[in-house]
Amino acid sequence: MSVVNSVALARVGRGNLCAGCGACAGRFPKMIEMQPAGDGWPRPVAHAPLTAAQDAELSAFCPGLGQSALPSDRPPHPLWGAFQDMRRAWATDADLRHRAASGGALSAVLGHLLTSGRVDAVIQTAAALPPDPAHASRTIVSTSAGDVAAAAGSRYAASSPLTGLADWVADGRRFAFVGKPCDAAALRALALRDHGVARAFPVILSFFCAGVPSRRGNDALVRAMGAEPEQVTAFRYRGHGWPGHAVAQLADGSERALGYHESWGGVLSKHLQHRCKICADGTGTAADLSFGDPWETDAQGYPLFIDAPGQSLVVIRSALGAEILAAAEQAGALESASYDVAGLVMIQPGQRNRRRTLLARLLALRLMARPVPDYRGMTLLAAARQERPTVLLKAFLGMARRAWRDRRSEQTGSKA
Ligand SMILES: Cc1cc2nc3c(=O)[nH]c(=O)nc-3n(C[C@H](O)[C@H](O)[C@H](O)COP(=O)(O)OP(=O)(O)OC[C@H]3O[C@@H](n4cnc5c(N)ncnc54)[C@H](O)[C@@H]3O)c2cc1C
Repeated sequence: MSVVNSVALARVGRGNLCAGCGACAGRFPKMIEMQPAGDGWPRPVAHAPLTAAQDAELSAFCPGLGQSALPSDRPPHPLWGAFQDMRRAWATDADLRHRAASGGALSAVLGHLLTSGRVDAVIQTAAALPPDPAHASRTIVSTSAGDVAAAAGSRYAASSPLTGLADWVADGRRFAFVGKPCDAAALRALALRDHGVARAFPVILSFFCAGVPSRRGNDALVRAMGAEPEQVTAFRYRGHGWPGHAVAQLADGSERALGYHESWGGVLSKHLQHRCKICADGTGTAADLSFGDPWETDAQGYPLFIDAPGQSLVVIRSALGAEILAAAEQAGALESASYDVAGLVMIQPGQRNRRRTLLARLLALRLMARPVPDYRGMTLLAAARQERPTVLLKAFLGMARRAWRDRRSEQTGSKA
């Protein structure tokens, strides 16, 4: 990363804090561009010096450097942030519901925003096209509910959906944006600072995110399916059932498949970028609506990853979000039912554990003099209080050991 001219980007580089959202390149397109770095994650490369004012602005919106909780009339939940309500929902279009990641409610809302004329287009993420590898993602601008439905599904790979920001702000159209919580946080921070961004993006949607796996993780997944990455012509991570299977289509016309528990839990979740491991916002607190999985549970309350008719969990974060969800339901795009928030802590163990142990891991990084994101109002202490001290100590020691190892290898590398 050529970051010498920017204090903000230098800090991001030193701490390996980049989330890959592309907001810096989208805000300063002539100066910064995103390029794939180690293991395929997109990282900023600065081509021209930023002014002190630009650098300060970058520090204020870069989610790698920090995130502030948005003001809300609701008290923030220690694990899930501030919200008005949570509901289960599913697309009424049976085909969309079947193909989507969960219940297709996110695509149904986006489709409704377009057909009702509330926005002119949607910025979203879809599978890359050849010659890019089949697991890769691309940012697309959808203008019809059909486009949106075609892009339904989760891409467990790097995406930088904000790199086109300057063009979209200049474009004059009103966009709905959907992205990872870090993408949504960057866009919200920009919209709060800049009227032009707020006008161009009246609606921000997000989803629960456990982290972005690397290219190596994706290659390992394909090999776990009994194929080689070069053989794969198309790839989906889940969907076609809830949660469905990861499915690779091969050049010889055959398919390989692996269940969700094996593909995400067994492979991809072991290959996440550093920033995702110290993320305070896995549930899209900056969005108007955020979507996740309201998994069915066993008798002990643990999530069951067995195919069932898809459902999306919808977290209503703002009054606008509540209004949009109600309008989409009234228009017949989706159906919804109540959701008992108390159950979420059991069925989202990854989100729960990351939030509860985050403060301990940030402390370890600080003690090792590693830069960490500046989180404000994100209730990390309240989340840590829910955890057993032995678990916190283990998280602290694990992160300290990793940071120590990283520092040693940096020192060895710089002497070589
Ligand atoms: C990397 C990742 C991690 C996730 N981790 C969790 C988790 O821990 N817990 C949980 O409950 N849910 C998680 N999800 C969300 C879940 O997979 C579903 O996306 C969510 O439940 C919404 O389902 P849906 O059927 O309503 O969405 P759909 O109707 O299928 O729509 C999905 C939308 O997300 C967009 N999208 C897909 N992948 C990306 C991406 N990589 N970057 C930006 N936009 C994208 C698509 O363009 C589409 O508009 C994760 C998703 C991703 C991509």
